[in-house]
Amino acid sequence: MDSVKTLCPYCGVGCGLELSPPAAIGRATNRDSQGNPIWRVKGDREHPSSKGHICVKGGTITESLEKDRLKYPMMRDSLDEPFQRVSWDEALNKIVERIQTLRNEQRVDAICMYGSGQFQTEDYYTAQKLLKGCLGTNNFDANSRLCMSSAVAGYIQSLGSDGPPCCYDDLELTDCAFLIGTNTAECHPIVFNRLRKYHKKNRKVKMIVVDPRRTATAEAADLHLAIQPGTDIDLLNGIAHLLMRWGKIDTLFMDDCTRGFPQYAAILWHYPPELVARKCGIRLDELEQAARYWADSERVLSLWSMGINQSSEGTAKVRTIINLHLMTGNIGKPGAGPFSLTGQPNAMGGREAGGLAHLLPGYRVVKNPEHRAEVEQVWGLEPGSISPHPGRDAWSMITGLETGDVGLLWIAATNPAVSMPDIERTKAALRQSPLTVYQDVYDPIETSSYAHILLPAAQWSEKTGIMTNSERTVTLCPQFRPPPGEARADWEIFAEVGRRLGFEREFDFVDAAEVYGEFVQLTQGRLCDMTGLSHERLREGPIQWPCPQGDDGTAHDKRLYTDFRFPTPDGRARFGAFHSNGLAEPTDADYPFVLTVGRLYEHWHTMTRTGRIEKIMKKHPKPFLEIHPRDARKLGIEEGNWIEARSRRGVAYFSVRVTKAIARGTVFAPMHWGALWAKRSEVNALTHSEACPISLEPELKACAIRLIPVRGE
Ligand code: SF4
Repeated sequence: MDSVKTLCPYCGVGCGLELSPPAAIGRATNRDSQGNPIWRVKGDREHPSSKGHICVKGGTITESLEKDRLKYPMMRDSLDEPFQRVSWDEALNKIVERIQTLRNEQRVDAICMYGSGQFQTEDYYTAQKLLKGCLGTNNFDANSRLCMSSAVAGYIQSLGSDGPPCCYDDLELTDCAFLIGTNTAECHPIVFNRLRKYHKKNRKVKMIVVDPRRTATAEAADLHLAIQPGTDIDLLNGIAHLLMRWGKIDTLFMDDCTRGFPQYAAILWHYPPELVARKCGIRLDELEQAARYWADSERVLSLWSMGINQSSEGTAKVRTIINLHLMTGNIGKPGAGPFSLTGQPNAMGGREAGGLAHLLPGYRVVKNPEHRAEVEQVWGLEPGSISPHPGRDAWSMITGLETGDVGLLWIAATNPAVSMPDIERTKAALRQSPLTVYQDVYDPIETSSYAHILLPAAQWSEKTGIMTNSERTVTLCPQFRPPPGEARADWEIFAEVGRRLGFEREFDFVDAAEVYGEFVQLTQGRLCDMTGLSHERLREGPIQWPCPQGDDGTAHDKRLYTDFRFPTPDGRARFGAFHSNGLAEPTDADYPFVLTVGRLYEHWHTMTRTGRIEKIMKKHPKPFLEIHPRDARKLGIEEGNWIEARSRRGVAYFSVRVTKAIARGTVFAPMHWGALWAKRSEVNALTHSEACPISLEPELKACAIRLIPVRGE
C-alpha cells in the first residue's frame, strides 16, 4: 500500500488526510514513545473541504493510534475490584442478560446509551435501531448534546429543519464574517485560515468577532466586541434595532419568505443602542460599527459554535442570530447564511442518523407519528414500536442514576467523567450505577474507573465507515489497519447484542456498507437526501449532501434554501422574539468572577488522544487560568502562581496566566484536563448543569466562582 485517503477524526471541519504506512516512507521509521511505528500524514489535496490543509492535530493523529489501547473485554462485579479479562461471549451475555431482565420487569426505559460524535454513521445508525427500534426506548443520547444541540433546535424552530445551509466556499464569498461565540482560529483552524486569507486579501471584507476574550480569532478581526458573558441576545437584538432604525432590512424577503417579524420588531424597541452597549460592556460606537458592517454588506456569513450553543438560553441565541439573517435576506445565497460549526468529526452524521434522544434517522423527530411510522416501516417493526416520547438526554441519564431509574448505562466513545458539568456530582452518580458498560479505544481513561464492563472498540482507521463534516460533505474513512487484540467496530458490537437479543433479521448486516445502504433509504425525500450515496460511490471521493439517487453530487446547489423556501408547513422561515435572562448563575459578592471555558489549538476535548502525543503535551503540559492584570494585582497573585478556584459545586487549582486578553471580572480556563492528566484541576468541578430548556444543552461556558491565592507549595 502506498497511501490511503481518509478524514481527520478530530474536529467538525473534516479535513482530508493522506497517510503513508511506516514501511513506505523510505527513510528511518518514526516511532511513538512506546516504540510503535508511526504512519506519515499529509493533507489530501483532493479533499473538497480542506484542499490539502491540515492543522497540528490532524498532522500528529497517527502518534495516538497504538498507545494505551484497550485490547480485550474486561469485567468486574464492583467498582472496588480490579478488572479481569473475559471473553466477548461472557461480556456480551452479561449485557444481554441485564437488558432482558429490565425488559421482563417492564423497565426498558431504564436502559440508556450515551454515544459520541466520534462514532461513524454506521455506529450511530445501528445504535438507534437497537435502542429506539428493537428495544422501544429513545434513551440514546450523545456527547453532541453538550456541543451543538442548541444549533439543531434553533435550525428546526427557525428554518423548519436541522442542517447548516452554508458551505465553506461561502468563507471566500462573503462581504462580512460575523463570528460569535467561536474561537475559530483555535477550534476550527482550517476554516479560519481560509477566512483569514481571504479577509487579508480583500480590504473591503469585514470581520466582526464577538467574544469576552481577545482570542487568536479576535486578533484578526476588524472589530472585536468583548461583551460581558451572557449578553449575546442583547447584542444581537441591539444590532437588529439599529438595522430597523436605519431601514436596512429586506422587507421583500421577509414578506415572501418569513413569518413573525412584527412580533420580533415589537421587542426590538426595548433595545436602544445606549442601553445595549452599557449592558454588553462595550462602547456605543463599537455596537454601531457592528450594525453598520451588517447594514453595508450585501452578504453576511455568521459562524458560531459552543460559545453560543453551551448556554441556558442556547436555542434562543441561535434563533436570534438567524433573525438577523432573515431580516436582511442573508440566507440561501453565496457568501451568506447562519453557519453553525460542529465540534466533533461526525456530529453532523449523528444528526442525520437520529443520534440524539429526541431524533430519528433522516432528520426526523420521535414526537412526529408520521416520522415514527416511516422509520418503523424501513426497520420492519410493528407499528407503535418506537416510543413517541423523547428519551433521556445526557444529563438526565446522570440524574436517572441518582434516582435509581437507570438500570444499565452503556457509554461508548466518550469520556463523561471529564466532560459532564458538575463533575463531582456526575462521578457520584456514576458510582451508583447498577451496571455501566464502557466501550472505548484507550485505557487508562477517566470513565473506565466507573465501569463494570469494558469493551475494546476499533477506532477510526481500524474500521470502515462514513463521516459528515460541518459543510455536509460526506467522506468514507476506510479501514487500513487491523484493530489491536480483540477490538471490534462499535456498530458490530451493537449488532451482535441485537442478534443475541433475538433480532437476527434486524441486524443481519454483513458489513458497514450494508448498514450505510439501509441508513440512506431513510433519507429518501428528506432535506438530507443521501440516497445517491453508498460506500462504493464514496470510495471515489467525498460528496456533499443533499445527494438524491441519480445526482452525481453536482446537480444541486452547494447551499440549502436557494429557492428561499423552507421546510416548514407554509414554506416560510420563522422569526423568534427573545429577551435574555443572562447567565443561569450570575456573579455575586461570594462568587464574584465569571469563569468561561474553552479549547486550545493543540488539544482535543478530554485529551484522550492528544494527551498521548508528546509534541502536543510538551506545548501544553498543564492546565492554567487566565486573569486580567488588575484582578491579579487585587488578589496579590502573579504569573505562574497557583490559585484555588471555588464554585458552589467544587474546587479546582490552576497555574495563573496574567493577560489583558481577558476582561476584568472574567477568567478563562481550558476544558481539556481530567483527573488522569491533572488531578484537582478539572474545570467541570466548577461548572453547573443548568441547561437550555429547549435543546437541553448545559451552560458549560459560564459559572460564578471565587479565587483564593494558594500560598506556599
Ligand atoms: Fe483535523 Fe480539524 Fe485540524 Fe482539520 S482543522 S486537521 S479536521 S483537527
